[in-house]
Amino acid sequence: MKCTKCDQNAIIFTPYSGSHLCSDHFINSVERRVRHRIRTDGLIKGSTEDSPSRWVIGVSGGKDSAVLTHILHNMLDKDPRVQLIALTINEGISGYRDESIEVSKQLTNSLGIAHKIFSYSDEFGIDMDEVVQKNPLKLNACSYCGVFRRNLLDLGANELNANKLFTGHNLDDESQTAFMNFLSGDVSRITKHFDASLAPFPQRTETAFIPRSKPLRDIPEKEVALYAYVKNIPFYDGDCPYAVDSFRGEVRKLILELEDNHPGTRHSIMAGYEEFATIASSHYQSNKESSLQQCTKCGSLTTQKICQKCVFVEAVKAV
Ligand SMILES: [Zn+2]
Ligand SMILES: [Zn+2]
Repeated sequence: MKCTKCDQNAIIFTPYSGSHLCSDHFINSVERRVRHRIRTDGLIKGSTEDSPSRWVIGVSGGKDSAVLTHILHNMLDKDPRVQLIALTINEGISGYRDESIEVSKQLTNSLGIAHKIFSYSDEFGIDMDEVVQKNPLKLNACSYCGVFRRNLLDLGANELNANKLFTGHNLDDESQTAFMNFLSGDVSRITKHFDASLAPFPQRTETAFIPRSKPLRDIPEKEVALYAYVKNIPFYDGDCPYAVDSFRGEVRKLILELEDNHPGTRHSIMAGYEEFATIASSHYQSNKESSLQQCTKCGSLTTQKICQKCVFVEAVKAV
């Protein structure tokens, strides 16, 4: 099959757009969508040569963050308005995380990007191997780890004086989260997800935390993997040994089936979700930041007296 745009052989067919693309046109198409996202989200707006923005990229060593780092580096390396720094979280999962940290180091070294590692054990005095072994609250590992990771990403981004925090979430990740949030029946959850990491910057209303951004969220997971393959970007392909998010697994399967039968489903989930969240967000506006206070143990912003991270850390240390 020939490329829709030139005489070369196509390496991919994307049913949602009806295009067959050769490797050159595929690479262009991915990069164009990321540039478009950066522009429509207003990410560079307000940054100048005299006061450049610090963009911290959460780098796990997996394909998504490796591709994001490459694309942002290629786009912005010579742009004096933006400085890139990579941040890796070490959860303390022996085997799995050691290897992915090595890959992250190679990636950032090869691009000449500064790289900082923050670990659960340095910051919280515990690691995931210990959490899983003790499991004081009888939860799955991801429930602890998600809370710890969010907290440490904020802390690390703060320490690095970040203006924005970038993660490599792709279209599949985001449409799964959107669908799961709908199914939870909790509209405030939808507005939180939207305000914290999806809303274009001119309309961001959440100002207490370092704003997050996901420039790959228009790119399907398969295309992120293909981009890494075509550009020969090394990444770590292992699965976390503790991962057990069975609900996400079910939703993932469902959405992929829908996408097969109705190409474009993931894009339309996100389009509808974002419009709905914009409306819901202005409805919830009044009681948003007023309920935030500082955790009495660690100072993190939380809606409780003691933040969830401190509750978990203390439970583990009490065993
Ligand atoms: Zn072509
Ligand atoms: Zn706390």
